[in-house]
Amino acid sequence: MKVDPDFLTALNLGGGFDARMCMNCGTCTALCPLGVELLPRKLFRYALLGDRDRVLGQTETIFSCLLCRMCESNCPAGVHIAENVRTLRTYINREIHALAEA
Ligand code: SF4
Ligand code: SF4
Repeated sequence: MKVDPDFLTALNLGGGFDARMCMNCGTCTALCPLGVELLPRKLFRYALLGDRDRVLGQTETIFSCLLCRMCESNCPAGVHIAENVRTLRTYINREIHALAEA
């Protein structure tokens, strides 16, 4: 795993990404209608660890989220899951735009 120490800072330019309170309980994954094991808790863990490459490798999953907030309304830690997913999308869109400009 390659750690990018600036990844979280860069993520937060596009909004408030905050999953520090996540306890990795798995409630969100169990309730997600998409049934994607990765979404959202593992993705959030990768982001917190600065594993940018692994997050970007899950772009399709990030954009498949329905933003239905089923997970969020049952999160015992009060993590703003949908907002975090939106922030990840904003970051990815920014990266794609920057690549196109280069
Ligand atoms: S339900 Fe909340 S605390 Fe539990 S794993 Fe998901 S985001 Fe983390
Ligand atoms: S907001 Fe996204 S991650 Fe949460 S339950 Fe809905 S589809 Fe799944």
